[in-house]
Amino acid sequence: MCQCEDTGEGMSRFTDLIEWKYMKTCKRCHEEKELSEFCKDAVEKDGLRRICNPCNREQFAQWRERQQEAEKPKNQFKRDVAASWI
Ligand SMILES: [Zn+2]
Repeated sequence: MCQCEDTGEGMSRFTDLIEWKYMKTCKRCHEEKELSEFCKDAVEKDGLRRICNPCNREQFAQWRERQQEAEKPKNQFKRDVAASWI
């Protein structure tokens, strides 16, 4: 029997990412994670974001929430103004 399927399970897709085995500490949650947990960012010295993907998502969600909160009064004002014209 060929054992390829057992021994090589999941390895083929990692062979071209061999440099990703190093760890990096997230500047937000301060957890040490694999480099594959970080987005690429050309602005950074090491070419990777300072915060991990889960933190990045969280931060973006919070940012979007704030944006929506910031938009709300304006939209409300527009609606009020529009309503006063009718
Ligand atoms: Zn993090």
